[in-house]
Parts: sequence; C-alpha cells; structure tokens
Amino acid sequence: MPDHERVSAETIERLQRIIRFDTTNPPGNELALALYLESALKDEGIDTTILVPQQNRAQLIGRIRGDGNERPLILLAHMDVVGVQRASWTHDPFAGDVDGGYLYGRGAIDDKGMLAANLMTMLLLKRDLARTGQKLSRDVVFVATCDEESGGEIGMGWLVENHPDLLDAEYALNEGGRTRIIDQGRCYLAVQAAEKISHVVTVTAHGSAGHAAVPLPDNAIGRLGRAIAQLSRHVEPLVLTDITRQFFARLAGIWPNQVERTAMLDLVDPSAARAPDADKVLSQTPVFNAVLRNGISPTVIEGGKQFNVIPDSACVVLNVRTLPGQSLDDAVGRLRAVVTEPGVTVEITQRGIEAPASDPNSAMFDAIAEAAHELDPKIAVVPYLSTGVTDSARLRRLGVQAYGILPFPMPQSDEERMHGNDERIPLESLHFGVRLIHGAVARIAGART
Ligand SMILES: [Zn+2]
Repeated sequence: MPDHERVSAETIERLQRIIRFDTTNPPGNELALALYLESALKDEGIDTTILVPQQNRAQLIGRIRGDGNERPLILLAHMDVVGVQRASWTHDPFAGDVDGGYLYGRGAIDDKGMLAANLMTMLLLKRDLARTGQKLSRDVVFVATCDEESGGEIGMGWLVENHPDLLDAEYALNEGGRTRIIDQGRCYLAVQAAEKISHVVTVTAHGSAGHAAVPLPDNAIGRLGRAIAQLSRHVEPLVLTDITRQFFARLAGIWPNQVERTAMLDLVDPSAARAPDADKVLSQTPVFNAVLRNGISPTVIEGGKQFNVIPDSACVVLNVRTLPGQSLDDAVGRLRAVVTEPGVTVEITQRGIEAPASDPNSAMFDAIAEAAHELDPKIAVVPYLSTGVTDSARLRRLGVQAYGILPFPMPQSDEERMHGNDERIPLESLHFGVRLIHGAVARIAGART
C-alpha cells in the first residue's frame, strides 16, 4: 500500500509544477511541459519518447513494459489549456496556488489534473513493481498530447496519422466523463463510452436582391427568419442507445428527485409503454435531452452587408450532433421536410466521422467500477454517452476501447469552472482521482499493490 499522505503531497507538488507551464493554446508551447514530464518518468526508470510535430509543440509517450500476455493500456491526457481572462481571476491562473482546500489554476480540471493523476499512476506502478519484482500483464502507456483544445490536428490527429503503432492498445483512459456529487455526498461516476458526432449543416434562404427603398416580399432575411422559426419547433425522435439505457437505469438507483427517478425507470422499461411521458419529464433537463436524441443548435447567422441593400441570400449555420449509429442524411431529410418556407435550402457543409462505442461491459469498465467502489462503496458507476467531442473518438476508430473518466468528485458548481474563471480542483478530489486511476490500472494490468 502506498503511503497516502506522501503520495498526496507529491501529487499536489507535481500538479503545481504542471500548471506553471503556460500551455495556453494557441500557441500551446507544450514542449517545455513535455520535457518536465519526461524527466519525471525517466528519473524512475520509465522509457520515454518525445515527438515534435511542430516547433515548440510535442507529444510525450512513456511506457512501462508488461509481459505481453495482454494488449497495452493507454493513459491519455492533453497538455494544452484554453486561454484565461486574467482580470476575472482571484488567483494567478499559472501559479498553482493552494487555498482553502483547493488547488487553483488553468487546467486544474481540464486536463492537467488528469495529466498529474496519470503521471502519479505511472510512478506508483513503477515503484510497486520495483518493490515486488513482478511484471505487469500488459504495457501501460502514458500519452500526453498537445493541441486538444484546438481540435487535436497537431496532437492526437497527428499521432494517429504518423505513429499509429505507438497507440496499439486494447484500452485507453481519457477525459470525457465526470464524477458528480449530486446530493449529500452521493456521487455518480459517468464513464464515457461513446460520443455524439458533430456535423455542420447550412440553411440558406434565397430571394431577390434590390434597393431597400422598395421592400420585396421574397426578402431573403425574412425567409430565413421564418425558416428558423420552423426549425426551432422541430424535435428529433427519441433514440435509446445501449449506453443511455444503462446510464438511466443505474442513475435511477441514486437519483434524489422522485419524479425524475420514476421517469428514468419508465424510460428504460422494456414495455416502453410510458417512454413518451418519461421523455417529456427528462428532456426538460438540457443535458438529458441531449443524450436522448440528435441535437440541433443554430450557431452562426449571416446575411446582408449594408443597410440599404437587400441581399440575395442569408444563411444560418446549424451544429447538428447525431447519436452514434444515427444517419445524418435522415436527420437532414427531416429538417428539409420541416422547412416549408419557399426558396430555402438545407445542405450538409461538414460531415463528422462516426466512431464505434466502447463496450460498457468490458473488463476495463469493471476495473474502473471496482476501483471506484473501493473508495466509495455507494458510488453509482454508469456508462455515459457524451455530447462533447474528445480525442477518444480517434482512438475508437483505431479499434481501442477508450473510456472517458474525469475521476475527481465535484459538485456541478466546481465543474462549471472548467474553461471559466478561477478553475480549481478540490484537493480531496485530486487524491480520489489518483487512487481511482491507480486502482483501475493496477487491476487491469495485474499489479499487486
Ligand atoms: Zn480537455
């Protein structure tokens, strides 16, 4: 058993060091942080490789070799962070201050907390192995990428393109889930096993151009407004995937609100008799609604350049997010049927790539659940379909079973500081996260601790 107090102190110190590297993306400048992580791994005798896709950008790979009986496990985190509005912070976002039981800093939650927890897991595993003289049943591979916050083209996208051999693995742990404290210390760990696919659809209204002094009935902006009104009343059909079924079935076990709990059970009931009513209750919560159906959000509007000129077209951009296995063409077909306004076209302008779901009943999923229950016997561990996009989709397309866990128990209010002001991680949650990842990895890689 590792000495928890010493491990906690070391974790805090390492996360502070990691936060002090300003890896705001753009420009990222992750190389310096990659060199620090490399030295931390090397000092304990762990093999490392640094790859430099562009000047000052880097990916770091560290590997503890197993006996090869099973295929590797990847521990993934990104090194870059989003920018800060410095004036709105009460702490220096790149100092790593500890105050009142919290560690403050940009990236404390997303994703440097996980980076530090993954690093500690590697170090603890290596120390366990040195002490016991045993070998792991599979390689455990530490992967720190750049550029995730700008889409990952230079980061995980580049790695997949140029070094897929380094990513050969059965499983991966990444960000993308959450450990949510909901009520009186009750907690659920949502393990992301699949994600929605993001597409761009453009709705364009056409009309006659002319001088604004002579109003025209087919004004493109008027047409676009009526088309948007029609689209905004459209609701995509309810679709229950395997993962959302399990999500609601298990969440019902701990959910405090009676009406919502009943709706969760009705929704997954095999008879499906009360599913439409249950959908009405649950879809009032936007994050639930977003996992129950394809999502359509208007995001950009364009039309006209000058106050006295009627433009011949105007358009609105929709971000359409489909559930795995749902056809974008079918969804767009439904949108076209909804828009009866004349002179309006609905076109797909950017099509996302489908990624398979990871198995919510795998040995890795079980290892995560067991490690979580050891720390908190009452925690509900639920598979989760995320509405956001992570690097895990790229890994899943390579055939890796990737799982998203944000292993730090937090109330929603702290989670919302992610990408916001005064981002911070509760120290207790940080330590929980290290023990959770270490526990899950030790189980799946056959380490005695
Ligand atoms: Zn992130």
